[in-house]
Amino acid sequence: MRELALIEQIRRDFGSAGSRAVALGIGDDCAILRPPAGTEVLVTTDFTLEGRHFRRDLHSPESVGHRCLARGLSDLAAMGATPMTAFLSLALPADLVTTAKGRGWIARFFRGLRSLAGRHDITLAGGDTAQSPADAILADIVLLGTAPRGRALRRSGAKPGDALYVTGALGGAAAELSSMLAHNVNPAKGSKAGEHPQTFPEPRVGVGQALLRRKLATACIDISDGISTDLAHLCRSSGVTAELEQAAIPLHPLASKLSPAAALSAALHGGEDYELLFAAPASVRMPRQLSGVPITRIGQFRHRQATRPLITLLEPDGSRATLEPQGWEHFSGR
Ligand code: ADP
Ligand code: MG
Repeated sequence: MRELALIEQIRRDFGSAGSRAVALGIGDDCAILRPPAGTEVLVTTDFTLEGRHFRRDLHSPESVGHRCLARGLSDLAAMGATPMTAFLSLALPADLVTTAKGRGWIARFFRGLRSLAGRHDITLAGGDTAQSPADAILADIVLLGTAPRGRALRRSGAKPGDALYVTGALGGAAAELSSMLAHNVNPAKGSKAGEHPQTFPEPRVGVGQALLRRKLATACIDISDGISTDLAHLCRSSGVTAELEQAAIPLHPLASKLSPAAALSAALHGGEDYELLFAAPASVRMPRQLSGVPITRIGQFRHRQATRPLITLLEPDGSRATLEPQGWEHFSGR
């Protein structure tokens, strides 16, 4: 009954009634989806594992719910997709369902998830619920989106000569995390956009859609693991190298408060910023903002040559350094 009551609560809160793309949502053996004519369906899945992606003593339940969805939305944004619906599989320690305190945590988790879902007009069309085999909360979210057939942005289209752009500002998520770790605090959500890049990141869904619609980008990726790692992915997929101008990198105000070396490291390797990194032909006149988000040119792409590093960092004094990927990687022993 407890499992049923929880699912019923989720259905009431997230019912897909009225969603045009979801013909049948929570409550049957399968959901039935109806992607608009002329579109393709894009699918992304993301784990949110307690102890790995969040800490219950550090992240508020609202933040965990928000980030759980934000990660998938950022993947959809990176491909220019329009979010359609989501599926959430949850493994919960027994006390989260059997105790009032636990149920309070779940209610706040869903509040965080629902607030972001509402802003992007998506519902939960299904999922699975199980008792966790350990004392850890495990969540796996599947997000579906649509894009006009053949038009989704990929990592593989950057050409030598293209300019390199980034949305928003970098290093904020790592800076906020280091302050949370230092002070052992779990910040409440502030009201200003971008105030909590670690706990309440804003996936750049509108920017991705604008890039696709206005045919501005040749390639795009979201920065989940740090620009040094994600730019390397884009370069490898596209068969190009990149030059990154250090002085042009937009620093998040929280990163600017760190020492210059720590700020640069947070921006290059910090991860979890969920900004978009994209390529566009040098001839394109890039707007200064897309969907209300600042766009900054931070470098360019060049031909791949055996002697040339994948990413070269152009330092403010004019010297050139090889930038090794040092962003987040699972199984790296950290
Ligand atoms: P089955 O055993 O047939 O898989 P379930 O009892 O697991 O059915 O699920 C019943 C309905 O509730 C399904 O529509 C499923 O998608 C939905 N559901 C279960 N868990 C969740 C969840 N965590 N979030 C959203 N929907 C869920
Ligand atoms: Mg099931």
